Amino acid sequence: MSWYTGDPTYDTALAIGFALAVFTAIGAVFIRTPYGRFADASYGVSLDPRLGWFLMELPATLSFVYFFLKGSNANSPFALFVLFVWLVHYANRGFIMPALMRVPVGQKSGFSLMLVIVGCVVTSLHGYLNATWAASLAPQAGFEWFSDPRFVLGVVLYYAAFGANLHSDNVVRNLRSKQEVASGIKKYRIPTGGLFRYVSSPSYLTEILFWLGFSIFTWSLAGVYILLITMANLIPRAVATHTWYRETFPDYPAQRKILIPYVW
Ligand code: NDP
Repeated sequence: MSWYTGDPTYDTALAIGFALAVFTAIGAVFIRTPYGRFADASYGVSLDPRLGWFLMELPATLSFVYFFLKGSNANSPFALFVLFVWLVHYANRGFIMPALMRVPVGQKSGFSLMLVIVGCVVTSLHGYLNATWAASLAPQAGFEWFSDPRFVLGVVLYYAAFGANLHSDNVVRNLRSKQEVASGIKKYRIPTGGLFRYVSSPSYLTEILFWLGFSIFTWSLAGVYILLITMANLIPRAVATHTWYRETFPDYPAQRKILIPYVW
C-alpha cells in the first residue's frame, strides 16, 4: 500500500479522510453519537431514524457510482467486483436496514440532523475514495488478483463478518414486537443467541471486521480510511452500550464482554 497515488486530488482527499478519522476518535471519547438509545435533544433538530439513516448513507451509493462511472478502468474484473460488493452492502445499509427498523408509531425524532450532515461528508468521501481506487488507480485490476492470498483472505473475512452482522442486526430488530411498535411502545430487551452470547455489540464487532476484510481485499488506504472511521465511532459506542445494558438490566449476563469475545 502506497500513500502517494500520484493524483494530488485523491491524495489530498485521503489525507483529509485520515484527519477526519483522528477527529472522530477524539470526539467519540467525549460525545455519545446522538441517535438510538443515546439520542439527545440538546443537539438540536432530530429526524425520524429511518430518514436519518437513509439520508446519511445515500451519498455512499451516489458518490461511489458517480466516480466509478468516471473511472478509466471501470470495466476491469477488480473494479466490477468492488462495484458488486459495494452495491449489495449499501442496498442493505442505506435502504433495507432503515426500511426494516422498528420505530414506534408516533416517534418522529431520534436521529440528530447534525449527525446526518457530518455523516454525509464521511460517506461522500468514502464513495469517492473507494470508487476512484477501484475504477481508476488500483494496480490490481486483472483476474490475477483473484488468486492472491490477500484477496482470498479479505473476501472470506468480509463475507463471514457481513453475514454475522446481518444476523446480529436481525436479532436486535426483532426484540421489539410489531404489536409494540404499532402501539407506540419503545421497549428494549436483552438480546440473546449468536454472537450475543459473547459480546454486547456483535454488530459493531462484525462491522469492524468486514471493513478490515474490505481493506485487505482491495489492498487500499481508501479501505483503511473507512476502517479507522468505523473503529473511531464504534469502539466508544460499544463501551457505552455495554455500560447501558448493565445499568438497565440487573440480570444482564455477567460473562458477556464489550466487543472482543472472552477478552474485552
Ligand atoms: P443498534 O443495535 O443500537 O440499533 C439497531 C436497531 O435495533 C434500532 O432500531 C434500535 O432501536 C433497535 N435496538 C437496539 N437494541 C435493542 C434492544 N436491546 N431492544 C430492542 N430494540 C433494540 O445499532 P446501530 O443503530 O448503532 O447500528 C445499526 C447498524 O449500523 C449496525 O450493523 C452497525 O454496525 C452499523 N453502524 C456502522 C457505523 C460505521 O461507522 N460504519 C456507525 C454506526 C452503526 P432504537 O433506535 O430505538 O434504539
